[in-house]
Amino acid sequence: MDKIIEVTGLTKAYGNVQAVRGLDFYVERGKLFAFLGPNGAGKSTTIDILCTILAPDGGEVRVDGHRLGKEDAAIRNTIGVVFQDHLLDPLLTVEENIRTRAGLYGMGGHQLQQAVQNAAQIADVTEFLRRPYGKLSGGQKRRADIARALVNTPQVLFLDEPTTGLDPQTRKGVWESIRALQRDTGLTVFLTTHYMEEAAEADYVIVIDHGEIAARGTPTALKAEYASDQLRLAPSDEPALLAALAAQGLSGTCVAGAVVVKLAATMDALAILQHVQDYIKGFEVLNGTMDDAFIGITGREIRE
Ligand code: ADP
Repeated sequence: MDKIIEVTGLTKAYGNVQAVRGLDFYVERGKLFAFLGPNGAGKSTTIDILCTILAPDGGEVRVDGHRLGKEDAAIRNTIGVVFQDHLLDPLLTVEENIRTRAGLYGMGGHQLQQAVQNAAQIADVTEFLRRPYGKLSGGQKRRADIARALVNTPQVLFLDEPTTGLDPQTRKGVWESIRALQRDTGLTVFLTTHYMEEAAEADYVIVIDHGEIAARGTPTALKAEYASDQLRLAPSDEPALLAALAAQGLSGTCVAGAVVVKLAATMDALAILQHVQDYIKGFEVLNGTMDDAFIGITGREIRE
């Protein structure tokens, strides 16, 4: 397996606050990797360290083979970063913003022009390259941010909540651009997000809490382990339904006119339905989601 990021025993404290308490993980090359956790879990601290912005207290980090603390310039050349508050110059056009960034990498002439064109094409901003950044819509701005981060043809792209603050439709568009970019270029994407439906599409997920890894796995594995399926029953006779469930040793929770029973396994729904069919007018079985898994892992909603 090709590990593009390897983190061992990473620690960082701010005074008495132990923000990161010994993280061990790796990211496989070419994958969409989601790094999740509730507020204050230590995500930003970890990402800032990986991006060479913040020095760790202890541990080892390698990015594409380069050792953090020894080869930071090489790491910076290997990564592209889009932070939420990374705004481009509003008065410059998208192209001028990207060119300025390319200049910082020491590019010039034809190479610079080529790099700008490539980044613009991959991030799908060619249509509005000549427009001032300040005049773009939220979704266009985010794509321009990504284009700028791609100008040095990075191996890893860090995206810190790339779709937060966008309306649902724009969010979907930006998310689709990110997915296409990762699929088509084989770029490794290191993502943080508050949207569990995005995390559900990642190849691999790590959940951190209180500076430690609370769970890791594919979305499918995490859902199977931490989220349960639900049987939602529409009662025709609610008291009789609850009594029939109780007689089977089951408890139902009343939610918005429905009675919800947690299932250990999806197929358990069949036997329950047989017992209660006289007291219901309908039912549905809902599979556990990444949201449920996140709550199962951390005991909290991601936004709490
Ligand atoms: P997240 O990104 O998951 O919300 P952070 O990495 O920002 O978490 O924070 C982890 C912990 O470290 C929190 O308890 C936070 O209050 C604390 N922390 C973060 N940055 C600083 C700082 N500059 N000074 C002091 N404490 C900080």
